[in-house]
Amino acid sequence: MNSFVDTHCHLDTYEEQTQESFESLWAKMEVKPEAMIQVACDPHEFEYAKIMSEKYDFIYAAYGVHPQYVDSYRPEHEELLKSYLVHPKAVACGEFGLDYHYGAESKEAQCLLFEKELEIGLQKGKPLVLHLREAEKDSLSILRNAPIQNHPIHVHCFTGTPAFAEALLKLSSSIYIGFTGIISFKNAENVRAAAKLVPLERLLLETDAPYLAPVPFRGKPAHSGMIPLIAEHLAQVKNITKEELLSLCRENTRQCYHI
Ligand SMILES: [Zn+2]
Repeated sequence: MNSFVDTHCHLDTYEEQTQESFESLWAKMEVKPEAMIQVACDPHEFEYAKIMSEKYDFIYAAYGVHPQYVDSYRPEHEELLKSYLVHPKAVACGEFGLDYHYGAESKEAQCLLFEKELEIGLQKGKPLVLHLREAEKDSLSILRNAPIQNHPIHVHCFTGTPAFAEALLKLSSSIYIGFTGIISFKNAENVRAAAKLVPLERLLLETDAPYLAPVPFRGKPAHSGMIPLIAEHLAQVKNITKEELLSLCRENTRQCYHI
């Protein structure tokens, strides 16, 4: 079995939703990732990510303020975010970005926060984890105005149109596109069409656990041990073997996150 990394998961949410501890999940995982990135989406999640990354050598952390928390964002969170980003196990700034699916009424505030976090992540020299949902036009115009060239960016849990994927890939050669269990959903024809367009060296695998478990586990809590299953679905779309896909994505993870 190839080694693999789950580049995006939320273990705190997994523990809350399932009432199962990470320790117990880890013990029962049949196939284990070589590493995983715990993504903290709001200041109230920062400490958990830090503690987990200190406790387990294979857990790394990303820190950011997700657009769903835009209303509780305060100016003092900026310094807090910066202080977590210098932790030795902090591998990325994010997730942050725009979400007009759930937050259509806060577009303006979301755009301001997106620009602010882009600036912080770039300034700290950290790869960026972007959450861009149903906000293709604004996402592209903000990214076009930011000095992102040669800066590793993971556009996580891609759910956009094929045209959006193409436009993102054109912005910079350091943009990677992440696919979750959604790639296996029956109604995700659009996502598979987008994945077809993404060059092999720009793909990343992620679960976004506990959300978005792949078929046949759809609706159940996802965990990092499901990466090989997601890889199987994505490999089919890309017309290569699962082993080839896992090994390519393992290398892409190194390029993007330096782990
Ligand atoms: Zn996430």
